[in-house]
Amino acid sequence: MHEFSIACEIFEQVLATAKAHGATEVKSITLQMGRLSHTNPEQVEFCFKAIAEDSIAENSDFLVEMLAPSLECKCGYEGTINEKKIRESDALKSELLAYVAAIECPICGGQARIVGGRELIIKSIEIETEEDQTTDSNNK
Ligand SMILES: [Zn+2]
Repeated sequence: MHEFSIACEIFEQVLATAKAHGATEVKSITLQMGRLSHTNPEQVEFCFKAIAEDSIAENSDFLVEMLAPSLECKCGYEGTINEKKIRESDALKSELLAYVAAIECPICGGQARIVGGRELIIKSIEIETEEDQTTDSNNK
């Protein structure tokens, strides 16, 4: 299962980062997930909780921020896809977007490249150390 291997990777990274900072407990994990990454955040969380059992990340909050797909066009336009517009158009359903490389630019109408939306990033983890301090660790 796709989500299970993702959860394994997240778990290993979180634990490595937490240990490097002398953590006694992982309080929360914040992920950024592109909408085109074809990943179900609930399933990742479910797998993560199963893997994290009996570890210092056992009781951590698992937060997921969804990222909208972003575009880049020859005309200079850079921005996110208008998701409201996607929902209104059958041809632009976000499931289908994962398979297309280009989409109409909202400014010039030309072919804009999809440059983001497939990312999966551990944005931050919050840990507790022996000194009872809370540390934010960026692991970009
Ligand atoms: Zn354009």
